[in-house]
Amino acid sequence: MQHLFSRFLAKAPGKEPAAKATPAVATPQKAPVALPPLNIRYYTDYPTCNLACSYCVAGHGTTFQKPPTSRWDPDRYRRVMANVAKLPYAVNIRIGVGGEFFVSKDLVDGARTLSQSPNLHALNLITNLTLSVAQFEKTFRGFDESKIAMVASFHPEQIKDHADWFDKAAEFNRRYDFAVIMVAFPEALDEIAAHKARLTERGVDVFIQPFVGPHKEKWYPQAYTEAEREKIKAMIYSRHDYEYLLNAKRPGACNAGYRAIFIDPMGVVTPCGMGKYHGSLGNLAESAELALRAGPAPCPFSSCQCDTENVNTVEFHTHYEKSGANQHRYRYRFGDLAALDERYDEWKIHY
Ligand code: SF4
Ligand code: SF4
Repeated sequence: MQHLFSRFLAKAPGKEPAAKATPAVATPQKAPVALPPLNIRYYTDYPTCNLACSYCVAGHGTTFQKPPTSRWDPDRYRRVMANVAKLPYAVNIRIGVGGEFFVSKDLVDGARTLSQSPNLHALNLITNLTLSVAQFEKTFRGFDESKIAMVASFHPEQIKDHADWFDKAAEFNRRYDFAVIMVAFPEALDEIAAHKARLTERGVDVFIQPFVGPHKEKWYPQAYTEAEREKIKAMIYSRHDYEYLLNAKRPGACNAGYRAIFIDPMGVVTPCGMGKYHGSLGNLAESAELALRAGPAPCPFSSCQCDTENVNTVEFHTHYEKSGANQHRYRYRFGDLAALDERYDEWKIHY
């Protein structure tokens, strides 16, 4: 921008100003007040997908039934997004779906508008990355791309050309704050380890999400054998994921309701989306009014197996820090201490 301004400020060659300019009186400028951060997970209940993974929790596959009704309403979505744009917080939002985000023009249009809002710090989008790079380029026209963070879920049984998908992931990794997530389906652990290795070779971060739910009359993740647990441990993203997602650890104090909120498909706001709360913190389909908590509070639930929610815990923030806009990427705070003294190792500390 500097060169544009200097064009107007530069003196025209060979001409003197007609009158001496009055010296400008410096007025004290107030430093801009930084907005407090707010992590948002918004589940829209958009119900359409272009894949049919057998383990799909949204019911597009065979393991889970499709919910009888969807509460998806494009008008309500637009109202919620307009009110999010008015919030007096630096918003990092993840828009969730019961299908594929980029199939819906309504979802994309709403995200494009929100990306331009001054209070929007980061826009986390999740996709199965089935569109071509050219289709994504067209879709992202008009977005503030500097705010986009992406998580792509890789579904090996549904994606025919794995090498092509990995190339696309590497391309997105060059363009955006990007990570890949894979579900550790019990029968596919070795295959997933191989896929992760191929993506890591290409410089792409991979999250492994333990499978949650019924499979062959057993309930996961509790039903993973010791050998399966070791395989998952070897490829999982962090100690935090291992304890919360695989061992279903009981959480302690949490920032949900204070520095994080969940918006349900109706626009109703609760501290998080992991269970039922009495009352709500607001309704963003109706207004931008929120009644947030003054600080962290004890988690009322027995586990937190949502990778976007469990990063709200005080324990997470004590031990990890975000490395960018992506709600899925972070690093251990004490790696430098661990390099000097192995007792600080991420896998040896009490957690
Ligand atoms: S891509 Fe996601 S939403 Fe679509 S079928 Fe697979 S798991 Fe379900
Ligand atoms: S730990 Fe998870 S389940 Fe508990 S309040 Fe926080 S976000 Fe909700």
